[in-house]
Amino acid sequence: MRFEELCNYLLKLEKTSKRLEMIDILSEVFSKTKKEEINYTVNFIQEQLLPPFYNIQLGIADKMVEKAIAIAYNKPVSRILEEYKKVGDLGEIAEKESNTSNNQKTDITEVYSKLLKIAKISGEGSIDEKIKELSELIANISPIESKFVIRFVMGKLRLGVGEATIMEALSKARTGSREFKANIERAFNLCSDLGYVAEVLYLKGEAGINKFEISAMKPIRPALAERLGSSKEILEKMGKCAIDQKLDGFRAQVHKKAKEVRVFSRNLEDITHFMPEIVEEVKKIDCQDLIIDGEALTYDENTNVLYPFQITIQRKRKHNVEELSQELPLRLFVFDIMLYNRENMINEPYIKRRELLDKLFSNTKTISKTKMIITDDEKEIDKFFDLTIEEGLEGIVAKRLDSPYSAGARNFNWIKMKRSYKSKLNDTIDLVILGYFKGRGQRAGFGLGAVLAGVYDSKEDKFKSITKVGSGFSEEQFKQLFKILNEIKVDNKPARVDSIMQPDVWVVPKYVIAVKADEITRSPTHTAGMKDGIGYALRFPRAVTFIRTDKKAEDANTVKDIVEMYGQQKNISIKN
Ligand code: ATP
Repeated sequence: MRFEELCNYLLKLEKTSKRLEMIDILSEVFSKTKKEEINYTVNFIQEQLLPPFYNIQLGIADKMVEKAIAIAYNKPVSRILEEYKKVGDLGEIAEKESNTSNNQKTDITEVYSKLLKIAKISGEGSIDEKIKELSELIANISPIESKFVIRFVMGKLRLGVGEATIMEALSKARTGSREFKANIERAFNLCSDLGYVAEVLYLKGEAGINKFEISAMKPIRPALAERLGSSKEILEKMGKCAIDQKLDGFRAQVHKKAKEVRVFSRNLEDITHFMPEIVEEVKKIDCQDLIIDGEALTYDENTNVLYPFQITIQRKRKHNVEELSQELPLRLFVFDIMLYNRENMINEPYIKRRELLDKLFSNTKTISKTKMIITDDEKEIDKFFDLTIEEGLEGIVAKRLDSPYSAGARNFNWIKMKRSYKSKLNDTIDLVILGYFKGRGQRAGFGLGAVLAGVYDSKEDKFKSITKVGSGFSEEQFKQLFKILNEIKVDNKPARVDSIMQPDVWVVPKYVIAVKADEITRSPTHTAGMKDGIGYALRFPRAVTFIRTDKKAEDANTVKDIVEMYGQQKNISIKN
């Protein structure tokens, strides 16, 4: 498909917020896309050059884009700057300033090869080189193409299309129905690379997708846990089960292929660089292919005490990783294994996977296994839980003995129980920022006084409002929020946002914050879980973290979580 044709479809996509219409438009795009182009097209629509675990960024700042437009269309930078101040969208400015008529029939492969080339430029003189390449690219494409390339480069494409919508559209385009989405999703969960999955679908058809397998160096979307508030409920749900200690560090999925080791975060970013000691230790394991799942924590070498998450996360923010690994070394607590040489363990029952873990790993200071018991006795679970809390850990995760590794799914194969559930809504809730209210009175100087926040509705692939958060942030954080939210502000309510409450400024649903609240209540003001005009809302919310960099918008708590928490909250208050 010509890139210009794709851009015209993107224009149509921008104009609708109806999911079915989006699916129809995209499935038309995908029907016309060649197999050589589908990988790039899907990534482009996902508004990324490649999935995050490839660690490839364009590295182009706004200033560089301004210059590239000026060079491409032979205009003074000052003029571009002035326009930018007025219009606020360099894409639109590129479109207006461009006088190119594209007779070359550019396709997405050409655009992508140029963008990849730009991303790979590094070192001395790279800024000028990147500007030159970008200006050459936009000088040779049509105005509308320039507009979308510039928006893409700046991370401001804002099509608002979720993964679920893309998968349904792919299914419709290739099979005529949306039902094959479930199979596509299974493959996506096994490799976290939707562009690649689409390519397999185009090259090998439905059979290729159905035969899709995990492979080392492609991260598996992590399995997640449901929550319950008592050992009784856990046993009612799963019967005899494994009870694992729950540690509060950061999720680390470790891959090994021959001598190469890579580590991926919960969010599927490549975090290999932050974990040199774990990488070295895993390199020593005598095997060709390996994928294990675990939680990494810093600990005190003298006392063997584990440090809380706040200390562990410092690693990600600091540059002196090598030094830190001396001072505050990391230990990986492994709790699952998905691949061992040629043995794909993902569909094996949990108990078998754990047996293999026990066979392969003895506890060392850098890699250790989580402590685990198997029981069907309520009292034994409670005792293990209390001991775990005494050790300063967060709680337990119960695991169904016969369950597969549920890639990318949150279900009752894993059930977490934290101490906090025993009191009334003490757990933190992760919310997505949907917009902000301008600061008034004392906060006028911060620019921002509160944010509108929401939860994810995975069924509808939308974000629904649940509360307004105006406390818990420091003065400095308010100012910082104002700055970073302005970078993603949009003129109208984004297509995937559902809210009755109108903030002063809407933003792209991107950033997640953790809040604590006193209670979940029913309310007609918010759209989360809304039925017959009544939704759910948080009472007295306060932020307990600034932006959580380990989660993307879709990883926030869901409407389903809120409904469950609401139920548990009632149970607790009755018990008390
Ligand atoms: P979630 O990851 O479920 O979206 P969250 O980030 O708030 O929510 P938690 O409520 O702490 O996380 O619970 C799940 C997380 O617990 C897992 O993602 C994993 O990082 C961590 N974890 C710690 N110990 C274990 C364990 N033994 N088994 C599974 N997960 C564990």
